[in-house]
Amino acid sequence: MNISNIFCKDGILAKSLKDYEYRPQQVIMAEAIADNINNNSHLIVEAGTGVGKSLAYLIPFILWAMEENKKVVISTFTKALQYQLVNKDIPFLKDALRLNFSFALCVGGENYLCMRRLNQAGSHGLFELDETEDLKRLFEWKDKTKTGLKSDMDFEPMPKLWQKVCREGDICFGKKCSYYEKCFYQRAKAVERKAHILITNHHLFFAHIALGWNVLPKFDSIVFDEAHQLEDIASGYLGIEVSNYRIKNLINTISNPFTKKGLISRLEWLTPHTISEINLLTNKVRRAGDGFFGVLSEKLDGTTKRIRVENFIPNLLKEPLINLSEGLKPLMKSAENYEDEKEILSLIDRCITLSSDIDSIISQTLTDHVYWGEIDGKRIRIAATPIDISSILREQIFENIKPVILTSATLSVKGDFSFLRERVGLNSGNELALDSPFNYRENVMIYTPNGISDPKDTEEFKRDVIDCIKSILNITHGRTLILFTSYEMLNKAYDALNRLNSSNRLNSLNFLRQGEMDSYKLIEEFKNGDNLVLLGTHTFWQGIDIPGDALQCVIIVRLPFQVPDDPVTEARLEKLKENGKNPFIHYQIPNAILMFKQGFGRLIRTQSDKGIVAILDPRVRTRFYGERFLSALPDCVRTDSIEDMKEFFDRIR
Ligand code: SF4
Repeated sequence: MNISNIFCKDGILAKSLKDYEYRPQQVIMAEAIADNINNNSHLIVEAGTGVGKSLAYLIPFILWAMEENKKVVISTFTKALQYQLVNKDIPFLKDALRLNFSFALCVGGENYLCMRRLNQAGSHGLFELDETEDLKRLFEWKDKTKTGLKSDMDFEPMPKLWQKVCREGDICFGKKCSYYEKCFYQRAKAVERKAHILITNHHLFFAHIALGWNVLPKFDSIVFDEAHQLEDIASGYLGIEVSNYRIKNLINTISNPFTKKGLISRLEWLTPHTISEINLLTNKVRRAGDGFFGVLSEKLDGTTKRIRVENFIPNLLKEPLINLSEGLKPLMKSAENYEDEKEILSLIDRCITLSSDIDSIISQTLTDHVYWGEIDGKRIRIAATPIDISSILREQIFENIKPVILTSATLSVKGDFSFLRERVGLNSGNELALDSPFNYRENVMIYTPNGISDPKDTEEFKRDVIDCIKSILNITHGRTLILFTSYEMLNKAYDALNRLNSSNRLNSLNFLRQGEMDSYKLIEEFKNGDNLVLLGTHTFWQGIDIPGDALQCVIIVRLPFQVPDDPVTEARLEKLKENGKNPFIHYQIPNAILMFKQGFGRLIRTQSDKGIVAILDPRVRTRFYGERFLSALPDCVRTDSIEDMKEFFDRIR
């Protein structure tokens, strides 16, 4: 079996797939991947929408894994792609190729029910009154489920209940557990160890690296699909952070004064004196935590802030956490069984790690990290994030595993991959840029209106944008996605457009905005409704897939430059400057172009999709970098005339 007789016009795929279309780009990609597997070299592939990249990498890797008995990890950014691979593409290939390869979906341990914790908490009455109903359902479900996975439940258990019964790495007893044979997680791990293909996501993959390569089984090669997200996801996992929730969770696990639950209520052999001593120590941590996060939130003043100086607030938590860990140590000696001993030990470790993490952040001992704090609702956190992860990824991944494949529809700036290579530390291997097989010239018009003020004139820009959106919507009558770069602008536009709608200056449209309901539900509503306009920011630039007539117009309000006042971005820009590079040219422009291509890519999802992309930001025409943005897009007809746009839209409607 070889690549060409699988992909050719009368090949295996053509015989198995009813609407199979031969796409030369897909064959080129599959052959390039096969070559790089044989040559043991890394490969970056940018594959435009419609190339069919998942089959193009799956097939050569399945053949290799079967022939050489290798194990391959496929890591994605979105769950949607993960489920497409597991539920559609791979089962299809198993049938079509008639190969007996095995595969497994790898998810984090916290997604599995832990039988030991469930039974322990049930028998010691560790649950709270409001959890009784969900607990009953959990006990019924555990006898029916084959996977023990939370995603397989037909109800959503209370998060605080699930936290008490899910698998937690540091208190998993592994082979010493009396439930080992029945354990859902251990069974899943056994399947993963035997599988040729493992499907996971970037979050779990980088958690695997951060935890010393201890989460996934040993593997031989990796494909990062949706690889444009690597730097941001990796940075999040390779740093450290401490939140008020993490402190609360730790002390409530030891002793919760409100519910009277926690470890010490379960250890029946503790003397009243020891219980009151531990309670005293946990109360001290609780009070210190309240003080610490109180001072922190005053300093942050409701925003995300960079912390530039050491010891910017007193480390009130260090001593109480160490005292608590010391107070727990004598309990280890009196523990009556392995289970108690292991749990006490893990709590001691958590106190010590937490104390050391806070210390590293407050005293800023980690080099090449940016320190910052954030208030997000009730959650207050401080963090240290590596500024440049390229050397970490190079040492940990690219010098360790071969081949590594990076793929996505947006990795290059007009075929130039240097930005991605620099950011992720990949300075070897090959690269390939493949255009989409779709006919953009026929099916898409790019509209760049004249007369919109420069975004630096904020109020004029906002006014012009609303006027222009109104004109566009009066042509499209909905079926439009509007992409913003900030919630502030999104909300202002939402209010203004609703006012226009109520005063009959728009044709009875319905507006949906990101954040008003779960994103998945919002997109489903948009797909199935009439006269709808969807307003989104951030994740909506890249995470949504709306094929067909429901979406015929994408409006890009502003070029998606990352805001330099985000602490991590700011630190990256400073670092480039220190290294003698112009951060705007070397970071902000290429980064924004990749995001811009993602936003543009929302419009055309299938061969028959047609529509308009309106780019309202005048800088694509007036600034020196504007043409770099436009020329990074597929070849389309461009216009600055609303009449042309209307004529095109009437034709494709
Ligand atoms: S092996 Fe670990 S996850 Fe499984 S039941 Fe035991 S403690 Fe829970």
